[in-house]
Amino acid sequence: MREFQHYIDGRFEHAERTFESIDPATQTPWARMPRAGADDVDRAVNAAHRALNDPDWAELTATQRGRLLFRLADLLEQAAPELAEMETRDTGKIIRETKSQIGYIAEYYRYYGGLADKLDGRYVSIDKTDTEAYQRREPIGVVAAIVPWNSQLFLSAVKLAPALAAGCTVVLKASEEAPAPLLGFARIVHEAGFPSGVVSILTGFGDDCGRVLTSHPLVARIAFTGGPETARHVVRNSANNLAYTTLELGGKSPVIVFPDADLDSTVNALVAGIFAASGQSCVAGSRLLAHRDILEPLLEQLKTRAQAIRIGSPQSMETEFGPLATQRQREHIQDLITRSLDFGATLITGGKPPEAFAEGFYFEPTILLCDRPDSPCLQEEFFGPVLSVLPFDDEQDAITKANDTPFGLASGIFTRDLASAKRVSARIRAGVVWINTYRMISPLMPFGGYGLSGLGREGGPEAMLDYTRVKSVWIRTSDDPISDPFVMR
Ligand code: NDP
Repeated sequence: MREFQHYIDGRFEHAERTFESIDPATQTPWARMPRAGADDVDRAVNAAHRALNDPDWAELTATQRGRLLFRLADLLEQAAPELAEMETRDTGKIIRETKSQIGYIAEYYRYYGGLADKLDGRYVSIDKTDTEAYQRREPIGVVAAIVPWNSQLFLSAVKLAPALAAGCTVVLKASEEAPAPLLGFARIVHEAGFPSGVVSILTGFGDDCGRVLTSHPLVARIAFTGGPETARHVVRNSANNLAYTTLELGGKSPVIVFPDADLDSTVNALVAGIFAASGQSCVAGSRLLAHRDILEPLLEQLKTRAQAIRIGSPQSMETEFGPLATQRQREHIQDLITRSLDFGATLITGGKPPEAFAEGFYFEPTILLCDRPDSPCLQEEFFGPVLSVLPFDDEQDAITKANDTPFGLASGIFTRDLASAKRVSARIRAGVVWINTYRMISPLMPFGGYGLSGLGREGGPEAMLDYTRVKSVWIRTSDDPISDPFVMR
């Protein structure tokens, strides 16, 4: 078993308590992880608070902070093969995906490294005589960053990079499921040369680590990614410190396919949209809204493709589809399928663990056809490889069905009629709309949801502003003495 240490105040440490991390492809423990308790969290937050005002960090120019982020990006790129293997081992995500994703994560550190010294305050033409006024943007303070298990390196980059560029300090909590990649990443943070306490990385459980972190009185900012139920706990925790909180939550993202769409190309996008990462992705295109005229040929093609996907060991470059990350996920998916079938949904393909894989948390790529918009499979998040298909009749019907969800993260539209695509995109209640494509991301574009999909945005310059506070500075420019306020003139 590999032993991991957490990273607090610039030091790697064993924790008093530990837990085992399971390899989802074999269902066997492969690593021992530190289980951070309240004391560890308190030390990490205090270190982050001290570092915030320590000249080693506080007196760096924004350009120097940016350079540290560039260095981090280079080191991350060099370590990508090793980190990809760790992520694959711990999450079951296929090596093809982890290898290509980690290379791109470095771009987030570069983007915010470049933005660090472009964050300007504002000179104000103030409406008072003999007065000048300007606004400064200052780091908001200690950030508590919390990520789920599915893409920890990516989901932490979208928090750490803008926070550090803005001059904040960060305590990052990995998920108890699959924490290894973030502890591997801690080595790179250390090597990059950030002063002690600027970044601490803890692994622990939601209740004794996450709760203590998000309610800590010295935390000024919470950046959370996870499910809506946990988000409610986090918001309640933040009643203690009134930390400014952003939430990136789940989704039930609709993909609308009009009858004039290029079907071959659309099917490729749909397959990638729902079956990449075995569906364990917040932006999974999990609700297919298909125009009734093309429903049959589309379903036929999708079924053929789903059945041909190469399931296998996540470590093999040949594998197209790996196991789910946890047994809990598999049980949740099976239960939601059963409830949807009871509700009248039709199973087109999949719906069970593949017989060829007795070991590992595997689950077949699954397609369900539904005719009731209130079916559980159209309303609840699977966070797994299940595509739920609902037919629609016209543009208005498509929009109504697309918006019939408490979530609002991503969406897709497939058509050759760009005018119609633009009309529909304006009326979809979702933070991201992809037209004739799916799953595009970039550090340059903000990302986030409506409704139960969250609050705030990650990515783009907007995200960095969210790690700052505005300070207003007033200067009297006259040399005349200030008159006595109690003498009437
Ligand atoms: P959870 O909400 O269960 O967990 C997310 C994180 O919160 C974990 O680190 C967890 O720790 C921690 N946590 C748990 N309880 C608390 C608490 N009381 N206080 C503070 N932190 C706590 O999510 P999952 O791990 O199940 O991940 C799946 C969810 O994440 C899905 O809904 C998915 O859609 C969403 N997601 C959203 C994304 C987005 O960008 N919008 C991207 C990826 C996923 P621990 O694991 O130790 O319990």
